[in-house]
Amino acid sequence: MDRKFLSLLVASLLVIGCTDAGKSGKDKLPAESKDKQRVELKREQTKTTKNAGLDLIKIRHDLHQIPEICFEERETSNYLYSIITGLVKGRSGVKIKRYKTGIVVYIPGTDPTKTIGWRSDMDGLPIKEETKLPFASKHKEKMHACGHDIHMAVGLGILEQILSKSQKNNFLFVFQPAEEGGGGAKALYDAGVFRKYKIDEIYAMHVSPEYDPGVIATKPGVLFAGSSSIAIEYTGKSGHAATPNKAINAILAASEFIMNVQAIVSRDLNPTKGEVLSFGTINGGTTPNVIAESVKICGNLRALTKETMELAHKRIREIAKGVSESSGAKANVLISTGSYFPGINNGEITKRFVDYVKSRDGVKFVEAPISMTAEDFGYILYHIPGMMFWLGVGGNEPLHSNKFSPDEKVIKPIVELVSEYLTNIK
Ligand SMILES: [Zn+2]
Ligand SMILES: [Zn+2]
Repeated sequence: MDRKFLSLLVASLLVIGCTDAGKSGKDKLPAESKDKQRVELKREQTKTTKNAGLDLIKIRHDLHQIPEICFEERETSNYLYSIITGLVKGRSGVKIKRYKTGIVVYIPGTDPTKTIGWRSDMDGLPIKEETKLPFASKHKEKMHACGHDIHMAVGLGILEQILSKSQKNNFLFVFQPAEEGGGGAKALYDAGVFRKYKIDEIYAMHVSPEYDPGVIATKPGVLFAGSSSIAIEYTGKSGHAATPNKAINAILAASEFIMNVQAIVSRDLNPTKGEVLSFGTINGGTTPNVIAESVKICGNLRALTKETMELAHKRIREIAKGVSESSGAKANVLISTGSYFPGINNGEITKRFVDYVKSRDGVKFVEAPISMTAEDFGYILYHIPGMMFWLGVGGNEPLHSNKFSPDEKVIKPIVELVSEYLTNIK
């Protein structure tokens, strides 16, 4: 497979939330003294007096200014690490580990029956920010356009609350890199981060402009779809347009594949349940009177269960092979399963969380519809019981917009609500 095709695939994978890096997560972050100095300075500014508590709004602003993408979150990681080490100072038994740019904090309980996890993702996007906010990104062409700056501020806030009193249960806080593409959840899981601490239940949230500020939305079962990137290259034999019998037309093979593969959705899958297979790019040929030697097709598959996803992968490979045999054009199929599994909330845990939310005065709860967007937390939910919820942040701009500007007033109340909930898990 040529480099151009590979880069095309990588670009297409970036759209779903990027490539599955698949590398070992055991590497430790190299110390970068310059970053450290800068981070130290910022941390000093986040606490006005010794016991004033973290200034989560300022932390969010600091993080918003230093967005980094896909396993490049070094400055972000150093910033978080500096605050975390300050928080856990003098606390015996607390362990801090660094995996790539991620950070894991383990807090042992006094009489644990469970180990409870909380995950915050850390990465930004390769987007030029156009918000005109006073704390807009200082990193060229990079932006926290998915609200992960809020997720980190909330994660730190909950960590601070959990550390502020002795806890019966064990806690594990995971600051995870590369959600927007590197499959950071899988990288950390494969590195043993989650298994090592034997988490009993795990939680995460994602901001959403679809809901008013402060609204909490979730549902038991499938919350969001899984996603796979598909790339097919057909290679035939070039020739004169007037003598097709002496050539193998890759465009014809690709056309046949695209038409046949639609049957996967209409026959093998269930479109009413939200399975979607879309091809976004097709590239091939050089000039009108020459038969194309190669054609590249890239697309994306969304499915609501892992089984459906795997069935679709199998059928795509079979159809590509069948077309190859009938046309004579060689098919090269690349499917990135990655870590973007469907997000399936545990029924019992979700009910407990929702009951708690509904019992709180002034908190609005909404039953969320299934979303066809993908999140690599789905990979964690496949292995560990848990749940994810949307936190409304209002505004008119969607996630990933260069003008995305969530209402940060949601940070303090959600930190209080989640901390109280997590503390009271029996
Ligand atoms: Zn995103
Ligand atoms: Zn996100």
